[in-house]
Amino acid sequence: MDYLPLFFKLNDRTALLVGGGQVALRKASLLTRAGARVIVVAHRVDPELVALIEQHNGQVIVGEYHSGLLADAYLVIAATDDNELNEQVHFDAVERNIPVNVVDNQPLCTFIFPAIVDRSPIVIGISSGGESPVLARLLRAKLETWIPQGYSRLGRLVGEFRQQVKQTFSHVERRRIFWEKILQGQVAEKVFAGRDKEARALLESALEKADPDHQVGEVYLVGGGPGDPELLTFKALRLMQQADVVLYDQLVSPAIVDLCRRDADRIFVGKRRDNHAVPQDGINELLVKHALQGQRVLRLKGGDPFIFGRGGEELETLKQHNIPFQVVPGITAASACSTYAGIPLTHRNYAQSVRLVTGQLKNRTSDLNFEELVHPNQTIVFYMGLHTLPTLFEQLIAHGKPAETPAAIISNGTRADQRVLTGTLSSLPELQEQAKLPAPALIIVGEVVQLHENLAWFGEEVLHNHGLILPDANPD
Ligand code: SAH
Repeated sequence: MDYLPLFFKLNDRTALLVGGGQVALRKASLLTRAGARVIVVAHRVDPELVALIEQHNGQVIVGEYHSGLLADAYLVIAATDDNELNEQVHFDAVERNIPVNVVDNQPLCTFIFPAIVDRSPIVIGISSGGESPVLARLLRAKLETWIPQGYSRLGRLVGEFRQQVKQTFSHVERRRIFWEKILQGQVAEKVFAGRDKEARALLESALEKADPDHQVGEVYLVGGGPGDPELLTFKALRLMQQADVVLYDQLVSPAIVDLCRRDADRIFVGKRRDNHAVPQDGINELLVKHALQGQRVLRLKGGDPFIFGRGGEELETLKQHNIPFQVVPGITAASACSTYAGIPLTHRNYAQSVRLVTGQLKNRTSDLNFEELVHPNQTIVFYMGLHTLPTLFEQLIAHGKPAETPAAIISNGTRADQRVLTGTLSSLPELQEQAKLPAPALIIVGEVVQLHENLAWFGEEVLHNHGLILPDANPD
């Protein structure tokens, strides 16, 4: 982050604006909207600017800028087309530790203006750190269409009730839960529909009925998908943004953890193979402990919580303690990795069914029913099978699966560093021996793997397949 976004209180403060043209007018209009007393100094001042300044009790000085004008200034903006003058203003301000903005000259700015979405009291500032103002503006345009004007009235309504709610709920967490219910429920809907009176009545009655001592929280067991944050569900994202505590695994990508509420406590509970930062019992206990404290606990898992995720066990513990919970499915690795690798799991010509199988063998091959797995016309997907790959493939061949059956490893599926390695049951273990694709990795076995060559669309691999990255020229 190159700049820290802050919101400046300018009410009744003096802002010095050097320049009197259209650009200065735009800045003056922002400053006056924030209640600033604006002093404009320029040789020529646009009449519209004069009118605006007068209307807001500012001052227009027609004449030469001099550093004495900075005496009372809380901040200063240079909006002239005279580079020397802009530089002078910059140096004078910096010398006096006054924040300065020189329009369209980022190196001379100690603060910059964001693109603004104004739903006062809700205000959104968007900045590209000066790298691409156009991008920031495009994003603003998107937000403008997304965020109804009603947010402004909703913000004011909340402001009116703030003190009262504070008195009812002395505990900050309870207060937040109350507001989240209000702001995501009927009250907000009424405001957006323009029925402010009904919204106010609803809010009053919710406050009357509120039980500030109610203590049990809730657990959200949420599937975070395979890694690409865009594969989250809306529901997952909503719960991620309202939880007080987040317990997450190794498999959940940092980009996804980042989308959780900023001030939520984040607890890493690990779980890589053979490396459980917190054992399963410990995780169950943590869930119960936080929920009984009245917190909303997000249990965030990679992929889908009910597919090799031990989600069921965690819920059984919650059930024993009468803790309410919700479960949100996620896109499981089999589905995500196969799509991102261009390998349809079923296909009219090749596979009529799919098997999702754990590759973890607890050192005994008899854990899996290989007789069933070798049936033709079905795709086998191995989770957690990277370290047992040679044994799995040996057993498939020993039970009659042809050695030339196509197979693939998809490592870091859906992430920027996704890699796909293809071969056959006989060749893939050795190819992996050399390639050493890292975990997490999913293994797909079946005729459908052939389709990868044609259908691959995601990641670096695709460029290789289509010859877009030229192999290193080797003179030998
Ligand atoms: N609940 C998860 C699976 C947990 S088991 C789900 O539904 O996806 C962990 C295994 O999932 C890993 O060993 C690996 O086989 C697979 N896996 C999870 N995410 C993956 C990813 N992004 N790329 C490849 N494999 C992944």
